[in-house]
Amino acid sequence: MEKKIEKYDVVIIGGGAAGLTAGIYCGRARLKTLLIEKSLVGGLATYTNEIENYPGFPEGTTGLGLMDLFHKQAKKFGVDFKLTDVKSVNLDGEIKQVETFRAIYEAKAVIVASGGKPRLTGAKGEDGFLYDKGISFCATCDAAANTGKTVLVVGSGDAAIEEGMFLTKFADKVIVSVLHDEGKMDCNEIAKAQALSNPKMEFVWNTVVDEFVGEERLQTVVLKNIKNNSLIPINVDSCFLFIGYLPNTEIFKGMLEMNRGGYLITNEKMETNVDGVFAVGDVRDKFLKQVATAVGDGAIAGYSVEKYLAESEIFQHQIMQSEMPGIVYLWNAVDPKCRELLPLIEKYENDYQGKIKVTKVDIYKSAGLANRLGINQVPCIVTIKDGKVDRVIIENICEEELAASIG
Ligand SMILES: Cc1cc2nc3c(=O)[nH]c(=O)nc-3n(C[C@H](O)[C@H](O)[C@H](O)COP(=O)(O)OP(=O)(O)OC[C@H]3O[C@@H](n4cnc5c(N)ncnc54)[C@H](O)[C@@H]3O)c2cc1C
Repeated sequence: MEKKIEKYDVVIIGGGAAGLTAGIYCGRARLKTLLIEKSLVGGLATYTNEIENYPGFPEGTTGLGLMDLFHKQAKKFGVDFKLTDVKSVNLDGEIKQVETFRAIYEAKAVIVASGGKPRLTGAKGEDGFLYDKGISFCATCDAAANTGKTVLVVGSGDAAIEEGMFLTKFADKVIVSVLHDEGKMDCNEIAKAQALSNPKMEFVWNTVVDEFVGEERLQTVVLKNIKNNSLIPINVDSCFLFIGYLPNTEIFKGMLEMNRGGYLITNEKMETNVDGVFAVGDVRDKFLKQVATAVGDGAIAGYSVEKYLAESEIFQHQIMQSEMPGIVYLWNAVDPKCRELLPLIEKYENDYQGKIKVTKVDIYKSAGLANRLGINQVPCIVTIKDGKVDRVIIENICEEELAASIG
């Protein structure tokens, strides 16, 4: 079956906090924007029952409620949504392709907002009990089903301890497997103090999971004490894993630059190593992975895409045009030498209208255009003939030199 091809200005892969924010910015800039999400719009934030640190909600909010507001706002600005999995991408060249089961979406810009997925323990039997068979990664989703029951939480970071405390509102007992010595946890001190004084929480120190055991459903988690190798079987109704996340970057391997852990490397404009491809949120190599920082990334990428597309348009249709000879003046308004040369350039602009295409590029405002021309020094003149760069004049910019170049 031949796949249909649809064209957009920008395609966003992933509909979590970062992708939705990028969508809001792109949609509001009137770019034709598509957001593709493979499971639940809202992403990882919908896993958490309570978000207390997102500004603007002094009473806190639920992850689901907050993401619903993001979703509504993106739809208001005309973002198209497709609920499907991106299978592969082709990011070479000016037009990028994003492929799903049924269609190929083409766009000049792609924003990768694919976040992360929960890390597994790798213990024996794990694969047989994932999701609806007893191993969960989402307290919000599965807490109510564990009302009056016993659950095991694996991990001691913020997510593990905060979600563990949330589970005590439903379960009778929440046992926490902690890798560290007694009293040591990876979470913040406030969460730690609250958890240690919670009568429904019990801690099993210095342990990792050795095996998951059960028939149809999980029944026992066998923990192993890493100090003396003793095995501790714990009968549970469910087990919640909160031991970190891995980036969803498999489909970008060999195309986008990543760190050793597979997280995408970007600069502060959220640009990856490939022109026209941006990355935002938890999928990036960054210091703090939270909703607030995902939102910041998304806003920056939305703005960067808008600039990138505007510059692409100027570069192709104005600078590299082949209808007539062209002069590109790269300058910086605060540089006196650049300002001195401006009358000469404007003389050409006025005297040769319709014969020579003159473009002025302020490198402070349009660094991307200077980069495309490979120029990092001003003042500079680039002459264009037949849609190609003919000469780069950096030293001795004067009327004679210009006249000789343009003819
Ligand atoms: C239990 C828990 C509690 C948390 N608590 C807080 C908190 O209190 N405060 C806070 O600020 N942060 C919290 N966080 C962190 C916060 O949720 C994340 O930092 C944030 O959700 C990251 O957003 P994102 O858009 O980068 O990624 P995600 O939310 O992970 O979204 C990425 C999306 O991309 C989709 N996707 C991936 N691959 C593809 C593909 N090939 N095709 C299509 N779609 C794809 C995924 O399905 C997913 O929906 C918590 C996280 C967890 C797990």
